[in-house]
Parts: sequence; C-alpha cells; structure tokens
Amino acid sequence: MNYRTGIGYDIHRLVKGRTLILAGVQIAYARGLLGHSDADVLTHAVIDALLGAAGLPDIGEQFPDTDPRYRGASSIKLLAQVKTMLRRRGYAIVSVDTVIVAQEPPLSAYKGAMIAALSRALGVPRDAVGVKAKTNEGLDATGSKRAIASYAVALLKKSSSKGGR
Ligand code: MG
Repeated sequence: MNYRTGIGYDIHRLVKGRTLILAGVQIAYARGLLGHSDADVLTHAVIDALLGAAGLPDIGEQFPDTDPRYRGASSIKLLAQVKTMLRRRGYAIVSVDTVIVAQEPPLSAYKGAMIAALSRALGVPRDAVGVKAKTNEGLDATGSKRAIASYAVALLKKSSSKGGR
C-alpha cells in the first residue's frame, strides 16, 4: 500500500465589504476575507494539503492570483477540480483534517455545513473530513481579528495500477 500525507496552511486578512466564505459556506459576519478568489482560507489550505500529498505544484501555481479566470472564483469548485486531478493520477483521498483559527465569528454552528461541503467536493464520506475551529486567545493577527488562518492535513492512497507522476 502506498500512502502519502500533505500539509496545507493559509491566512487571509479580514476586511469590510467582503462576504466571509469558509469551505464554500457563507458565514454571517460583518467582514470577509480579502483575496483574488473568494478567499476561502479553509479550502485553500485543503487544496495545498492535497497537492502536497500528491507531489504536485501548490495552489499559487495551479490557480495563479494574476489570472483573471480566478478573480472571484469559488474555491470549493477549484477543490473539486483538484480532486479530479488527483483521481487521474491514481490517488484516492482517504481523509482530510483541518483547523480554522478565527477569534471571530463563532463557527461551531457552521461546522456541519462545512464538513458536508468539503465531503461533497472531495467525494468522500463526512467522517473522512474534520473541521475544528479555534480562537487564538487574543494573540497575534488572528487573535486580534485582523485575519483568519487555516491548517489542513490530507492522506492519499495511491493505487498501484493507475497513473504516475
Ligand atoms: Mg489563499
């Protein structure tokens, strides 16, 4: 059996006039994350964990923020593209686990929806996806509500019969 792990991290600034999107889910909050795409920081971390596990170039190379095609792009749709990319190379997604670091807003009410959206995009059961939300105890950029960060790890299984890199 050939298993591979990957890690992803991302952070985006919180600004007025943007909608907060995490795992493709719209979150009720006075501010949103700044970015070229929808700035879905959680999905970006998941994408990088998956790409890293597969030994592929990172999100910035796959979906450049200089490319007008990705302006306002739905990151959860890009994640579904990454899933297809991995399948073509013979990788099955075993599990993805994540941590969101956000002082505000409270996210526990959205966890189920975020897990459902990620599991749909990844084509895996819900119990193969973890979403945890932490504050940063008032410390640093996330703790002072200037940003939201996310971490992700992914486990892939490579089938011996298919694909190569
Ligand atoms: Mg990002």
